[in-house]
This record gives sequence, structure tokens and C-alpha cells, in this order.
Amino acid sequence: MKLELPQIITQIDHDLHLCDEKSWQKDLREVVTEPEQLLALVNIAPDDYLQHFKARSLFPVRVPLSFIKRMKKGDFNDPLLKQVMPLSTEFSLTEGYSTDPLFEHDTVAEGLLHKYKNRVLMIVKSACAINCRYCFRRHFPYQDNSPNKKRWQSALDYIAAHNEVSEVIFSGGDPLMANDNHLAWLVEQIEHIPHVTRLRIHTRLPVVIPNRITASLVSLLKNSRLKATMVLHINHPNEINDELIAALEPLRAARIPLFNQSVLLRGVNDDAEILSNLSETLFDAGIQPYYLHLFDAVQGAAHFDVAEADAVAIVKEMLARLPGFLMPKLVREIAGQANKTPINLA
Ligand code: SF4
Repeated sequence: MKLELPQIITQIDHDLHLCDEKSWQKDLREVVTEPEQLLALVNIAPDDYLQHFKARSLFPVRVPLSFIKRMKKGDFNDPLLKQVMPLSTEFSLTEGYSTDPLFEHDTVAEGLLHKYKNRVLMIVKSACAINCRYCFRRHFPYQDNSPNKKRWQSALDYIAAHNEVSEVIFSGGDPLMANDNHLAWLVEQIEHIPHVTRLRIHTRLPVVIPNRITASLVSLLKNSRLKATMVLHINHPNEINDELIAALEPLRAARIPLFNQSVLLRGVNDDAEILSNLSETLFDAGIQPYYLHLFDAVQGAAHFDVAEADAVAIVKEMLARLPGFLMPKLVREIAGQANKTPINLA
């Protein structure tokens, strides 16, 4: 049975009080994968945009209904829609842009990157609930890194053999695509490695499917011997609604520190007022602004790039608007460098 948008929204609202695995997995099964349906759900006539649809062959479309619900109806330039709508310009090859801008295809064990001395990044799951068109991993060979317990074991063996690793970062894809039982198994294995003291989860999933914050996930993070933190990925204040704020409440109550990183994206958030508003909205939601990333030069997404000089001007204007504790650090990731490179604002 095909649901119309009002019915879908009613269904989402009805499900809000649920916080179990079935709820978010149902939301995941209902993600929109057709550009035509995406546009129809925000009251845009698909016929005017047919030329863009073929770009889905470069990177599939995936958008949860909860995220669509936050888009402004009838506006093709809506900042949330822009992050997920395929465009024909993605076929343009741009000089200086790469399919692997951060050389991330070089794993030290299956599904494990060791870029920073004391931290490893573990690709817990290959897929995401949402496919962001600007993603620097849009060309990542996930099929070669499709994680399962056997592959996780190879990463765990590497971590156990490297005493310098004190923090494990769950990444992906999106690590919260793993169900809570699998996450619990993985966390337990890491807890057995004495030199690991911190666990960080980089995720966008709760932002786009707030039901992903389940009681069992909160309990897992709260009761682990590892100090757990969660780094969310929110680019625009319109992504933060009451549903998300309510879903994060159990994490705040469990004293799990929440941070946010954004990507500076042309046409989405390249504006000091929008980003200042984002910082304030994050803070009100109990999330600390952390990083503002310059776009990584990934092939197919050059239309999102913001020149460094423009980024500096935006951040200087933010400094005049915001208290220091609400300022995200403007950084760029440079392949091969041991840490993120702060951008000089002078
Ligand atoms: S959620 Fe993150 S990893 Fe997944 S597509 Fe979006 S930016 Fe990329």
C-alpha cells in the first residue's frame, strides 16, 4: 500500500514514543530511494527535474522520511533537499578532485584506518541511512570492507596488538546501522583490550532517524567501562526539530557528551547567520559545536565546494556574533597528516 505524505507523517508521529529496535529498522526500510518520490513528497513536480535523476547511478539516493519531513515544501533550493538530491552536474569531472581525497582506501586491517597515532577509525558498517551527495566517501569501495564479525575480529586483533591506541572511533558508512546486539558484542570485545579507554561514535543516523536512540543503545554506552562520546553530523539548523531533541534526551541524561561536526557546503550553509543559528540551536539541544570542515575535494560534488577565503570570511563574521564556546573549529583534513589542519583566520 502506498502512503501519501500526510499519512506518512501521521505514522511517524504515532511512532515517536517508540524507542526500540523495531521502530528505527522500520524507518530504515521506508527510506526513499527514488528521486521522483523524493520530489513528490515535498510537493515539487518531478517532471521539471528529470535530467538530474540519472545521477543516482553515481551514488544511490537514500533519504529517511523523518528528514524529508523537515524540508520546506515546494522549494527545490531547500538546504536539506540539496544535501540529498542527485544533480546532473555530478557527472562533471573537475580537475584536482579525487575519488579518494583522503587516501582512505588504505586500511591497516579489514575495515580499519589508523590515521592518528592513538586513535583508530573502525568501519563498523558500510551503509548509511542517508546518502549525502557531498560525502567524501561516496566512492569508497565498501563492498571490500563489508563488515561482519570475522572482519571486525581482524580489526580487533590489530587494536589489541597496538598499545598506543587509546581511542576507537566507530565510523562507516554509519556505525549505528549495526543493530544493538552486534554493537554490544563489539563494545565488549574492545572493553577486553586494556589500553583502549575511549569510544567515540561518529554518526548521522540519529539525526535523520531519531528513533535510532534506543533504550538498549543508551544502556550500552552508559554502562560501558569505556568513556563514550557521540559526534553527530548536522549541517543546518532546520535539521534540528523537536523529534530529534526528544530522542537525544536519554543520552544527555546518561551524561554521554554530544558533539557536532558540520561540513561547509555551498548553497546549504555557507552563511554566517545560518551557521551562527546552527551553533545556538545545537547548544539549546545539548550538543556542543565541534568542527566545521572545509569540503573534501571529492569527484562529483565540486558544486558544494566553498573557497577557503570565503570560509574564513564566514567564520570571522561568526566570531563577531557568537561567544567563543559556540564557535566550531574551521578545519581541513589533509591526506597523510596526523591530525586535522586548523585554518588560519588571520
Ligand atoms: S551519513 Fe556521513 S558517511 Fe553517510 S553519506 Fe552522509 S556524510 Fe557520508
